Amino acid sequence: MSEPTILLIEDEALIRRLVRGALEEEGYRVLETGTLKEGLAQLHAETVQLLLLDLGLPDGDGIAFIRELRTQFALPVLVLSARSAEGEKIRALDAGADDYLTKPYSSGELLARVRAQLRRSPTESESTGTLLSFGNVVVDLAQRNVTRGGEPVRLTPIEYRLLCAMLASPGKVLTYRHLLRAVWGNAFVESNHYLRIYVSHLRQKLEDDPAQPKHFLTETGVGYRFQI
Ligand code: CA
Repeated sequence: MSEPTILLIEDEALIRRLVRGALEEEGYRVLETGTLKEGLAQLHAETVQLLLLDLGLPDGDGIAFIRELRTQFALPVLVLSARSAEGEKIRALDAGADDYLTKPYSSGELLARVRAQLRRSPTESESTGTLLSFGNVVVDLAQRNVTRGGEPVRLTPIEYRLLCAMLASPGKVLTYRHLLRAVWGNAFVESNHYLRIYVSHLRQKLEDDPAQPKHFLTETGVGYRFQI
């Protein structure tokens, strides 16, 4: 397989140059543009594995762009933005972004997030058929059966639904609203405390050290992230 292609939409030339340099050093192919219009044209013209997107762009708002993109493309979107407010992160994630980096960030952090998003792409998925595994946990989606270190783990129906909702998008930041809707339905999208309780159940049952989770991670003020 040839190296992944990454599209960078960012209007500040200096940041474009820095990001491009860091990515090319790792062997990625990089396309870049300063406008949403050109970015969309590139997405149609090329096969792109990951989009890095600034939110404040001269020809429009990145969040509206993500929403529009999601009707046509499934590729992962990593937002790079100077907007650090939690409300902005949540809006971008709810619009369909996969992850969010707030400027300034180090190139090491950027590359780690890029790798995490590219790992999730279907060609490199770690799932085989209906079996998913992380740590010493194996989830058999066909049998609705969970084992840890070979021993069966009993999950309630809610716990199992939450586990599946998180497993469906490894590496992606999942907002409270997204998870509540997926597990409990539309009427419960404000009930963040349900999630705190049930994520802690999953940690108790599936993490080696529930106080230092490695798989069911908290994204403070925003939601949760499942890491394989
Ligand atoms: Ca900008």
